[in-house]
Amino acid sequence: MSLETALQAVLDGGELGNDTALEILGLSGEDLALVYQTANELNLRLNQSRVSFIHNMNMNYTNICEYFCSFCEFGKSRYAKDTYILSEEDVWNRIGKETISEITFQGGLSDVVKFEDVLKLLRAIKQRRPEIHMHAFSPEEIHFYARKNGMSYRDTILECRAAGMDSMCGTAAEILDDEVRRKICPTKITTDQWLEIIGTAHEMGIRSTATILFGHVEEPVHVVNHLGHVRTLQKQTGGFTEFILLLFMPDKTRLGRRTPAMNRIEYAYKMIALARLYFSNTIRNVQTSWVKLGFDSALGSLEVGANDMGGTLYFENITREAGGRNGEYTSLDTFHSAILGRGKTPVQRDTLYSFQSQLQFSLSV
Ligand code: SF4
Repeated sequence: MSLETALQAVLDGGELGNDTALEILGLSGEDLALVYQTANELNLRLNQSRVSFIHNMNMNYTNICEYFCSFCEFGKSRYAKDTYILSEEDVWNRIGKETISEITFQGGLSDVVKFEDVLKLLRAIKQRRPEIHMHAFSPEEIHFYARKNGMSYRDTILECRAAGMDSMCGTAAEILDDEVRRKICPTKITTDQWLEIIGTAHEMGIRSTATILFGHVEEPVHVVNHLGHVRTLQKQTGGFTEFILLLFMPDKTRLGRRTPAMNRIEYAYKMIALARLYFSNTIRNVQTSWVKLGFDSALGSLEVGANDMGGTLYFENITREAGGRNGEYTSLDTFHSAILGRGKTPVQRDTLYSFQSQLQFSLSV
């Protein structure tokens, strides 16, 4: 099947095959322009001109982590000087009177940070600010605490939910291919474990995001394997709210020294367009990352398939520690006016994209 035929089939409601996905990752010039155009057209059919964003805050409860993933500068040894574990007082100082709708609550992994203390902190936030959606814990944290406490994944997730977790972070996915995982994060859970934990949460009615960390040592086949795992699980559970594309920040990391030179923004755009075409209306929300790409390039990605700009992100520090230079907070007004400036309709959303109940989703012209 020619590229043109395959792309038209997606616009007609068909599914993008793995062979075409692999082909797209190798394209440039006019063929790539056609991919961008098709991804944009598909996005417009699914989401019209709306571009969403969320008023949120990152709450990394500790930076002590003894996993040492090669792409991460955030996690610190317990013996490092600049470690922290947030107290309740720290949490209230951060939240203040902000009217945020979501807190992303995650932390490093170490024996010095106890599960019951983390749950206590989560419970305290939920009790005092019940209106804030707690988007909490990666599958890696669920695995870590389950193993430390001799519990099943299901029981660990139940405890998290009882303490106030409303949805789960789809982080720690990196690239869902064990060949790459062994190279960049050998102590992390396997692809199958990630899928099992997320699948368990979905079965329990807990939604999650899905992420991909790209732009390092992965090959096209690894990317397509990752997309395939996520699409397959989504067809089984329907639990993913969005697909988030995270461009690797090489500047200060060990993995950065092993990363080949590339046009990073072009690769990011290609990945965003591919994700839009691959997931189509299986996962309708494709999120770009202004923290990774920079605000202007993130706005540009709205023309190649992205429909969500992510969050205002008070206290974003994971990207900054890895060498990101795009800031840690953008105001709601800036989101609003910048999206309007691109001829799009800004829409503030909550974690579960509840505003979309007003939309008519259709793949028909
Ligand atoms: S990515 Fe997460 S698990 Fe890996 S070192 Fe950083 S904080 Fe620790």
